[in-house]
Amino acid sequence: MPQACAAKVSESRPVDAGDHAAVQALRRVAEGLALAAPRPAPPDPARLAAVLEALPIGVYLVDRDGFVTYANAAATGLIGRPVAGARWCITDRLFASDGTAIAPGEGPMAQALRGAGAPLEPVETIMEREDGGRVALRQHPTPLFDAAGTLVGGFNLLEDISASKQIEARLALSNRRDGLTGLPNRLALGQDLSAHIQAAEQDGQRFGLLRLDIEGFKSLNDAFGPGCGDAVLVEVARRLKAGLPGAAIWRSGGDEFVVVARLDQERNGATGLAERVVSLFRTPFCHGGRAVPIAISGGLARFPEDAADETRLAAGANQALHLAKTTERGSIRMFDPRKQALAEEQRALRQQLRLAIDTGQIGMVYQPLFAKDGSIAGFEALARWRHPVKGEIAPADFIAEAEAAGLIASLDNHILRSACREAASWRNRLSISVNISPLEFLTGDLTERVEAVLLETGLDPERLELEITESIMVSDAEKALAALGRLRALGIGIALDDFGTGYSSLSYLHRFPLTTLKIDRSFVARLGETLESVAITRAVIQLGHALGIRVVAEGVETPEQLDFLIQEGCDLTQGYLLGRPGQAQDYAGAMGRPG
Ligand code: C2E
Ligand code: CA
Ligand code: CA
Repeated sequence: MPQACAAKVSESRPVDAGDHAAVQALRRVAEGLALAAPRPAPPDPARLAAVLEALPIGVYLVDRDGFVTYANAAATGLIGRPVAGARWCITDRLFASDGTAIAPGEGPMAQALRGAGAPLEPVETIMEREDGGRVALRQHPTPLFDAAGTLVGGFNLLEDISASKQIEARLALSNRRDGLTGLPNRLALGQDLSAHIQAAEQDGQRFGLLRLDIEGFKSLNDAFGPGCGDAVLVEVARRLKAGLPGAAIWRSGGDEFVVVARLDQERNGATGLAERVVSLFRTPFCHGGRAVPIAISGGLARFPEDAADETRLAAGANQALHLAKTTERGSIRMFDPRKQALAEEQRALRQQLRLAIDTGQIGMVYQPLFAKDGSIAGFEALARWRHPVKGEIAPADFIAEAEAAGLIASLDNHILRSACREAASWRNRLSISVNISPLEFLTGDLTERVEAVLLETGLDPERLELEITESIMVSDAEKALAALGRLRALGIGIALDDFGTGYSSLSYLHRFPLTTLKIDRSFVARLGETLESVAITRAVIQLGHALGIRVVAEGVETPEQLDFLIQEGCDLTQGYLLGRPGQAQDYAGAMGRPG
């Protein structure tokens, strides 16, 4: 008999079966009552019985066979009938806290007597009384031994935890529920979605996950007064509940709803579901007698066809919603696996790009710029990604990705440093042009970084030209102009690239501290085709000269284009006709490159 785990009369109990101080004290009282073994100051059984009767906690005693020998008033009240003489006391309708039924003779008291040495833990149960009422009980069953260590019976303490259980359940419910619409919320969605997937997997069901978003919701309150937004949300929830019986619906965010609906029951599968939801919102929304202009966009992904796990399913619905919002607001779009593949490819590319910058896979080629007399006046550095598997990747395919992934500063910095180091090594003091992303003007430390590179490489600032585009004026023109002014003050040249394709506002031109204007190659390409491009090219050259800025024509591919440009007084020309972008060693002679 492993007595260390069982209660003994003559010693204080070594087992800590419950954390409740009152429960501990009660145990000792009950022990005294059950066995009148000798003690230094034996308790008076009559007084102890009176104490037990007055206790708000249920106490009952059983003999070794489980027959109840005593139950206090609280125990009788909890159980709902007199139990003295009954076996195991409350075995008729007992359930574990997860709802599974406990057979007679398998209850906590019986277990405690049977495995008298096992560690004693309080057990939470639900008892259904004869009158149908339910009580959540925490039971503390304890076997009792006489001084010789023989099992003589046991006692149980019954704590009514119904109230706290109810509060717990209500709290859990309110945590999971949106107060405005009464729908389960985002927290619930996270918990419920995996349960839906599990159930569908087991039953071989198909369902659609639909994400809905109210377009124009943010401006509703401003335009229609407070309360309008709330009314719309309540109405959306009402229509969804009424129109999609059997579907699970959540309010997953401010103006977002999620629906899970079985597809096997839908006549036309996912399309049928989408059509039904669209029809629910056909009737205009009204508030205060006025029509409220909102539209509801949605994205739908199917389980298991589109995705068989929670994360992918949600991502699929998101992707489809994004498509609906960007192509046709107020429509419901289906998940498109090809787009998903594209997005995954893009993600992979970004990851590889990050690595490519660090491992030196991004290199440069140099394209010469020619003066009117046919001599090389300088070079433009152009980035190339030497991908170990895909081969050379053109900047058109990765610059935008680098910008979107927040990698453009480190990329441009890498190019700038390499180009300056290269140019600084030439004997011929030719200019070097480096492209700078418009995003760089938003970060604020561009000038410092350029200055640091010049210091590090020892390149004369007068030889460096940064190529920018008009789009730097879009977000924060003042900041961009201030940065340009500082760069210019260092002696660095500023070229306005792709001139003619952007806003081409003449008012910008005299605000930019420009040294060079680059006519976009699309005008050069059309020189022989349209009179308009002839007129524009001629005007840009004249404009540049009027402002004291030199003019470069890029994309020169034919001798006719070149002749025209030289005739019009264009200062520099660049293009495949004269020189393609190449490795530095290809132009070693012109550069005066060592080695
Ligand atoms: P861009 O600055 O306008 O560069 C000129 C582009 O035109 C280059 O393409 C060049 O190879 C191409 N090109 C040159 N001559 C001709 C010609 O005669 N005909 C035609 N059709 N094309 C010609 P690339 O190297 O593919 O660069 C594309 C764009 O990528 C560049 O346009 C520039 O905006 C950007 N880029 C390139 N390198 C960098 C860089 O290091 N940083 C940043 N931020 N952007 C870069
Ligand atoms: Ca350029
Ligand atoms: Ca250009």
